[in-house]
Amino acid sequence: MQIPFVDLKPQYQSIKHEIDQAIEQVMSTTSFIGGPTVKQFETEFAQYIGTKHSIGVANGTDAIEIALTALGIGPEDEVIIPAMSWISTAEAVSYVGAKPVFVDVDSQMHTLDAALIESKITSRTKAIIPVHLYGCPADIEAILVLAKKYNLKVIEDTAQAHGAEVYGQVVGTFGDISTFSFYPGKNLGAYGDAGAICTNDDQLAQKCRMISNHGQKAKHDHEMEGRNSRLDTLQAAILSVKLKHIDKWTEQRIANAKYYHELLSKSGVQIPVTSQGIKHVFHVYSVLIEDRDAVKLEMLKRGIATQIHYPHSLPELKPYKSTENLDEYPNAVRLGQKVLSLPMYPELTKEQIAFVVQNLIKMTG
Ligand SMILES: *Cc1c(COP(=O)(O)O)cnc(C)c1O
Repeated sequence: MQIPFVDLKPQYQSIKHEIDQAIEQVMSTTSFIGGPTVKQFETEFAQYIGTKHSIGVANGTDAIEIALTALGIGPEDEVIIPAMSWISTAEAVSYVGAKPVFVDVDSQMHTLDAALIESKITSRTKAIIPVHLYGCPADIEAILVLAKKYNLKVIEDTAQAHGAEVYGQVVGTFGDISTFSFYPGKNLGAYGDAGAICTNDDQLAQKCRMISNHGQKAKHDHEMEGRNSRLDTLQAAILSVKLKHIDKWTEQRIANAKYYHELLSKSGVQIPVTSQGIKHVFHVYSVLIEDRDAVKLEMLKRGIATQIHYPHSLPELKPYKSTENLDEYPNAVRLGQKVLSLPMYPELTKEQIAFVVQNLIKMTG
């Protein structure tokens, strides 16, 4: 049996008719930038997340940069981020001229350890970016308490967690602003790069919209200098179709995770921890194992593709390494050494999951 890590084909096949029609619709109008198609997706996505505004942008990395800029964060400022995430979270902070300040992740949840944040807050700290890593909500309630105490902004990096919840409230609605990626492999994926920003704040929303469109309020009315980071109209049309199906796909991911849990519960493999009140949407199903690299290679020989999210914590990466003391991030470093992401996508079958687990158990004894 050959099992890919992610297979986007069955999903396209299942909605091909709707997608092709949506693409044809855009082609027939030849309106490729902005227009009612983008507006419609923005309205639908804001409704789905539960915020007043959603602003489509070019990708999830730009979304973070634009959110930081709109909040007035720049040179001399510090922004607290988890030591384990995709590089975008750190990169965006650096690109606006601020300093990413890493905080270790929790050993069980793998998201920001809120108990360690306070020791990293200085007079320059302006914001915290919790990442809902792998689709699991970060400890957002504790983070909001700290943000209030120190007057910090909260930007939720929700790139991996479309529709995840904390006691029934959708992530991306807790902070001042939240950012999303629609990279094809994400839970809500476009057929190219795309992203969005969500907020309830009217002024912040308007600012993000201006920044992402050359600082224009209306055409040729440049209020400020901005940039070009707009949501592509074709991608918006595709995303509107896919948004109609996301709840079903999320339920399928959760059911797949449940089956993995069941089959792995008596093994020595450390499975993802879920806590009460948390709706984890399993962008990634990650386990911790010894001899990770050897197991990954052996799995591949047996036809099972796995990935690593991520092989190195952020402070270990070249741009940060020389100024960081890795002893401060034991959990993130350990995660990088032991984490293995098993195949996960909605259309994965029970037979495929059983085959993955059977082989994994054989190898991990
Ligand atoms: C994917 C991702 C991003 C960036 O999204 P792009 O659309 O690829 O720019 C940011 N943060 C996290 C945690 C991500 O997983």
